[in-house]
Amino acid sequence: MKKLLLGLLCLTVLGCAKHEEPEKTVDVLLIGAGIMSASLGTYLNELEPDWTIDIYERLDQVAAESSNPWNNAGTGHSAFCELNYTPETADGGIDISKAVEINESFEISKQFWAYQVERNVLSNPKSFINSVPHMSFVWGDDNIAFLKKRHAALQHSSLFRGMEYSEDHEQINKWAPLAMEGRPAEQKVAATRMAIGTDVNFGEITRQLIDSLTRNDKVKLHLKHEVRDIQRNDDGTWTVTVADLGNGEAETSVKAKFVFIGAGGGALKLLQKSGIPEAEGYAGFPVGGQFLVTRNPEVVAQHQAKLYGKASVGSPPMSVPHLDTRVIDGQKVLLFGPFATFSTKFLKNGSLLDMFSALTTDNIGPMTHAGLDNLPLSTYLMGQLMLSQADRMHELREYFPQAKDEDWELLTAGQRVQVIKKDADKGGILQFGTEVVSSADGSIAALLGASPGASTAAPIMLSVLEKTFKDEVQTPEWQARLKEIIPSYGRKLNNDLELTNQVRAWSSERLQLEYVPVLPEVAVQ
Ligand SMILES: Cc1cc2nc3c(=O)[nH]c(=O)nc-3n(C[C@H](O)[C@H](O)[C@H](O)COP(=O)(O)OP(=O)(O)OC[C@H]3O[C@@H](n4cnc5c(N)ncnc54)[C@H](O)[C@@H]3O)c2cc1C
Repeated sequence: MKKLLLGLLCLTVLGCAKHEEPEKTVDVLLIGAGIMSASLGTYLNELEPDWTIDIYERLDQVAAESSNPWNNAGTGHSAFCELNYTPETADGGIDISKAVEINESFEISKQFWAYQVERNVLSNPKSFINSVPHMSFVWGDDNIAFLKKRHAALQHSSLFRGMEYSEDHEQINKWAPLAMEGRPAEQKVAATRMAIGTDVNFGEITRQLIDSLTRNDKVKLHLKHEVRDIQRNDDGTWTVTVADLGNGEAETSVKAKFVFIGAGGGALKLLQKSGIPEAEGYAGFPVGGQFLVTRNPEVVAQHQAKLYGKASVGSPPMSVPHLDTRVIDGQKVLLFGPFATFSTKFLKNGSLLDMFSALTTDNIGPMTHAGLDNLPLSTYLMGQLMLSQADRMHELREYFPQAKDEDWELLTAGQRVQVIKKDADKGGILQFGTEVVSSADGSIAALLGASPGASTAAPIMLSVLEKTFKDEVQTPEWQARLKEIIPSYGRKLNNDLELTNQVRAWSSERLQLEYVPVLPEVAVQ
């Protein structure tokens, strides 16, 4: 009791815990062992092999939250099939700029992984990336007109050339028989197909990257270690308080010159603890996901595509229904979803108090405004929460008419925390993208949000390097190294036919992926 009282006095009045001498000093401290920390750690280790790196992960294994293959859909987002990346403009045209940006990003990720295969950091590419054609599939006159226009607009970009379009039942049946069998012959449908799409096991990439990192004695991985606090020191470094969950939550502190908060859904609360002014006004809104999954080999063998439909009105962009081939740990399965879930947890293995404990006087305003502005999202979520298994099967049958109840089971995937931030006009906005928040001096950075997510880990972590190591990134040594890691570094692929082909051929060969050279533009009717 006396000890407890002394401890409380120390914490509340004297603030002893904050002033404890850190047990060690590291160059880089990465919070969380998901794909983001794994990618950033790999870059830094390749750029500065002598830097010490500590990775702290609260769970007992790496990639157990969103990066785990069963917690996400494994789509290598390239904007081949996701219709929400090509919105219709007011004059009835199609804006392809977002699609180009997403595709360029994924080409960077593929180069990053291909380079790691070359260095034996990653091995057996088929264990983490596989060619799976990306298809969009729609019905109804308006949707068909949209898909046709989208296809034509995308053909102006070298990144999307080679995409096939069809309204012919027989052709679409060849591409995706499960989507066509049992469909009324008179129903008008349309589809596009891009042969070079991918399915990615982001968990396997994370595991292999961290395995390779920890073979270097400068890098230490601490599982079952939860970061509890982050405080800035007078010299611009950070003292990070860590609880050893395998040892009675004993707390230690570590001094770090650079901290990356790659804690996924846990990032917002840690960013708030850092007290940097750049973190003010950010809040988070968690949306979870569920998928129907079938392992029936007869069914699985009949589908080889990631077949994306059109989202229903009011639904968030990441809720577009899709029927997906997945390759996980050598096993092929089919996934359909996602169905949205709601919980106040920020992590699948988090606490129900997460959402409330992240509320501050700075973010309550933006959060309220964003909530009022997004009533269709609330309506959509309520509708999703009320779905029964029969309702979910009904939705599945829109894409796979002959799906049998007994083949499909429900799987709970990960939590995504959508970013809410201050907005001068609206007070607060909800956004579905990913955002890097960093301090002005570049000594700390955090990644918020989860879309397009793991697919763009390599370019997003590159942007963290550019924001936080501004001087180093300009040096000839870093520039040369980055061009080795990402051969197209600093250049845009879009409409550079030669570069697109060169880069795709280079990464496809190393990743053992389908490669179809891009041809010069031809007129599309
Ligand atoms: C349903 C769903 C479907 C998705 N589909 C796709 C898709 O098809 N394609 C795609 O590209 N992306 C997809 N994503 C997004 C993608 O999964 C994420 O963007 C990505 O995995 C995030 O990686 P991360 O490293 O930031 O986070 P995570 O993988 O969640 O890793 C964060 C780690 O930090 C740890 N941590 C948290 N707090 C602490 C703490 N205080 N101390 C120590 N450790 C801590 C966690 O335990 C966790 O291991 C999907 C996500 C969901 C939820």
